[in-house]
Amino acid sequence: MKLKQPVFPAPADAAARLGVEPVICYPVDTLPPAPMDVYARAAEGMELVGEALAPARDAVTFEVPAGHFFRIVSVNGPQVGDLNLWNAHDLSERFYTGKTRALHGTHLSTGDRMWSGFPFMRPMATITADSLDWYGFDEFGGSVHDVIGTRCDPYTAHLLSGGQYHNCCHSNLSRSLAAQTGQAPQAVEADVHDVLNVFMCTGFTHDTHQYFMKASPVRPGDFLEFFAEIDLLGALSACPGGDCSTEHSSDLAACHPLKVEIYRPVNDALASAGWSSPSASGYDRSHGL
Ligand SMILES: [Zn+2]
Repeated sequence: MKLKQPVFPAPADAAARLGVEPVICYPVDTLPPAPMDVYARAAEGMELVGEALAPARDAVTFEVPAGHFFRIVSVNGPQVGDLNLWNAHDLSERFYTGKTRALHGTHLSTGDRMWSGFPFMRPMATITADSLDWYGFDEFGGSVHDVIGTRCDPYTAHLLSGGQYHNCCHSNLSRSLAAQTGQAPQAVEADVHDVLNVFMCTGFTHDTHQYFMKASPVRPGDFLEFFAEIDLLGALSACPGGDCSTEHSSDLAACHPLKVEIYRPVNDALASAGWSSPSASGYDRSHGL
């Protein structure tokens, strides 16, 4: 946080320096646009082919073939979810929240893409529907589906409050990935990564710019829908914070499960549009040598 009382005096031209207009770091005009019209046609009449349930304070893994859709659906009560995505055939390709945030902003919605890290750097999934898109940004600067927060974890909980809590999203995701891969949680926890905070309502305070959360506006029936650009392995944790209105990293909050639904298109919209999985980045990786 910035000092309330700066140590160094402002220079004579401080006002001029402060007044410089910002420029967008990554203008997205040159990003290849997501073919949302093709996705919309592909989604017409799509068939539910799989379901998974993340129990309260626990996680579940699920697989989505490229060209399918999946939804994260609120059931029972307000609940936020922490989502990890990997290439189903190579766990080293995983969702990169930081670059996704740099490209699309702090909170995602329809049309935004979830990008993988280097050296892949391609869209893993595209958001195709968001029943909370009406929320926009509230008066506190809050919104839903952030790519700011990391995931609640037992290391930070231990650092701040001591104790050994085992149902933070990091542990939930680690257990579910361990079950998926047949490895120990300790062996796979490095593959667990920063998340898309599905349904979570967050922002930065206007004064100190600290990360805040507030009760999620999600209600049963709400959903966030994705198009899988590559074969995906996903893991979803139903955060122990429940609707994240007060705290997480404990068993105090009311918690609910979250459902994952997987859909297969039933028409030839993708094929007739010539859709195919995006290739990995075209950068040659020589790094100047
Ligand atoms: Zn959590």
